[in-house]
Amino acid sequence: MGSPFSQVDFDLLKKYDRPGPRYTSYPTAPLFNDAFTSEDYRSEILATNAPGSTADLSLYFHFPFCDTLCYFCGCTMLVTRDRRRVEEYLRYLKREIDMVASSLGKDRRVVQLHWGGGTPTHLFPEQIRDIGLFIRSRFPITPDAEISVEIDPRELRREHLEALRDVGFNRMSMGVQDLDPAVQEAVNRIQPEAMTGQVYRWARELGFTSVNMDLIYGLPFQTLEGFDETVRTVIDYAPERIAVFNYAHVPWLKPHQKLINESDLPTPEQKLALLRQTIELFCSGGYEYIGLDHFAKPDDELAIAQKQRTLYRNFQGYSTRAGADLYGFGMSSISHFQTCYAQNEKALPEYYRALDEDRLATHVGYRMTDDDRLRKHVIMRLMCDLELNVSAVERQFGIEFDSYFTSSLGALERFVDDGLVAISPGQIAIQRGGRLLLRNIAMCFDAYLDAMMKTKPVFSRTV
Ligand code: SF4
Repeated sequence: MGSPFSQVDFDLLKKYDRPGPRYTSYPTAPLFNDAFTSEDYRSEILATNAPGSTADLSLYFHFPFCDTLCYFCGCTMLVTRDRRRVEEYLRYLKREIDMVASSLGKDRRVVQLHWGGGTPTHLFPEQIRDIGLFIRSRFPITPDAEISVEIDPRELRREHLEALRDVGFNRMSMGVQDLDPAVQEAVNRIQPEAMTGQVYRWARELGFTSVNMDLIYGLPFQTLEGFDETVRTVIDYAPERIAVFNYAHVPWLKPHQKLINESDLPTPEQKLALLRQTIELFCSGGYEYIGLDHFAKPDDELAIAQKQRTLYRNFQGYSTRAGADLYGFGMSSISHFQTCYAQNEKALPEYYRALDEDRLATHVGYRMTDDDRLRKHVIMRLMCDLELNVSAVERQFGIEFDSYFTSSLGALERFVDDGLVAISPGQIAIQRGGRLLLRNIAMCFDAYLDAMMKTKPVFSRTV
């Protein structure tokens, strides 16, 4: 079976390559500011708990610690082998959980829960059980909740997965990146294929119902042959979901990325060839291309949600539980309700100090305007549904679309001319090649982007 992208002009994509956001939020994180305080966050929590407002809950817990440094890492993490630091962190995390949980209405159900990092499996199995049970004692979690965890196969024992299952985890996301030993050595992440395979088998034996594997393209020494082998091996495992991230080389934001020798990185042309090959292999290997970096089996909830127009984007990427209020816990985590974003302190001393002073650890945040909510909706629907029902937006937000978005529609014209977007009365539809440029298309609707681009470089490149 051929790939649905085999007709796409990949050379055309190059002309759209520029820095841009990934739109896991709108407005994007660089606009969060300290005018939004922990007091504002507390009032928002109380407001969302007013009688009658009972949106479901999605909980995110950040575990920042890792054993070793992967040179490509873009996460907020701390490398340590000092176990006392982990114990201390867990004590503070529990304090934060108690502060927030005591402000929440008892009828608010958790439909989604995620542990990210860093490396959540840096915790010992007994620590996983302890904090997992603590969370369960503080929040009512629905029996069908999506409970997922990011795991690192290196230094992972079967006992870690048993502990995760014991406290209800049913999904996992596993870092693989690239199975080529030369690439692994260049990025300081040695993870032999046998290790990945062993952990995958344990996950299946223990009953994890959904496994995601993360790959990265654009790493040093990657070749078409080497990455072809990685992708084919992953297809043979048959995880339900696969994310293939474009390596963002942003050493001005992540100084440890200077440990990667830039001359070892693939050229933009080689990266495009890697992307094309990867998409073709996954699409002909039984996966659907959801958008951006994500692939899923056709019977996976992500693919089904896309068909049903209920897909959503949040800080973990694509998600199926739209409409839930997101509460983030731990250093640097982000919360998002209908009207605001709030991000916790990004350094441990400040995070701990706030909690010692009985304050929520909000570092920055953002209160959304009506225009922000409208644009967020437009961007979200385009990136998730790959089309926009213009009439529905007009009805929902009480606007006349063409006049409200005159400049956005002007910016879209080049995409239309290149056959990447089709505009008809009442609808904007992203065409096949345009699915590889979702970030660029969304950028046409971003009211803040031009001003942000004039200040400092904050975004990775889109292609
Ligand atoms: S394990 Fe994950 S979070 Fe930790 S350094 Fe490696 S990529 Fe970053």
